[in-house]
Amino acid sequence: MDIHFKCTQCGKCCQDLRLPLTITEARRWFAAGRDLQLLCEATPWPTEPAPDNLQALHWRRRSFAGMNGMLPARVTVILTANLAGRCPELQADMRCGIYEHRPYICRIYPAEVNPFRRLDIKAKLCPPEAWDPKNPLFQTGGATLPDPDLQDAILRSREADFVDAPVKQRLSAALGLDRAAVSGEGFVMYSPDRNELAQAFERADESAGDDQQPPRWRFVSKRPRTLAALETVGGICEAPQMSAGRPYDYLDLGGT
Ligand code: SF4
Ligand code: SF4
Repeated sequence: MDIHFKCTQCGKCCQDLRLPLTITEARRWFAAGRDLQLLCEATPWPTEPAPDNLQALHWRRRSFAGMNGMLPARVTVILTANLAGRCPELQADMRCGIYEHRPYICRIYPAEVNPFRRLDIKAKLCPPEAWDPKNPLFQTGGATLPDPDLQDAILRSREADFVDAPVKQRLSAALGLDRAAVSGEGFVMYSPDRNELAQAFERADESAGDDQQPPRWRFVSKRPRTLAALETVGGICEAPQMSAGRPYDYLDLGGT
């Protein structure tokens, strides 16, 4: 299906959301005096995927190895800026104050970074007139993007996901993160204070190149069936426990 789109500059995608950032973007955001969160999810990884399992290979590229009890796992950590209200970079005329350096995700929206997720207009914040057929062609056949700048931003964002994965592993180790939600169910969200995050960024740089043993991660789930299933195969899974170890929030994606 052809999709036509033109941004109306309504600014809805610049407020009240979590902005996923690459490591470079996160450092820049942090250096500007703003806080960051780390969203962690993980999935059991008993064997490597077949070469034609492109979806699993995509997950593998953007994750790092961990151990969950006796189970090999892959862990994904997403650095985010939590925009409660307007983005601090959104100007009064609804233009972006860091337009030339805005994060990839801002350049890409409302398109998708994940090649396995189809663009769902209804799930986007853009007003109806943004999708008017009189607007330029945005996407055709669900895959081809006629805008070369958009294509470039998507490819660079995917590449950053890949390059950033080992840095995120070191950053997580430096912060002592050890809980991750079961993928697809939610996220464990850590909100480190500025001092410790600054030190963790430094340590993540210093330890670059070090080979590490796969770190140990506990899975977190609210679903009794998940808890039981992981336990039977040697995994360690717990319900969210805000009092145990380092404090975190659990972001539930819903479902049963
Ligand atoms: S950085 Fe710019 S484009 Fe991105 S959310 Fe903020 S104001 Fe919007
Ligand atoms: S929500 Fe859509 S139309 Fe509104 S500013 Fe963002 S991309 Fe543009």
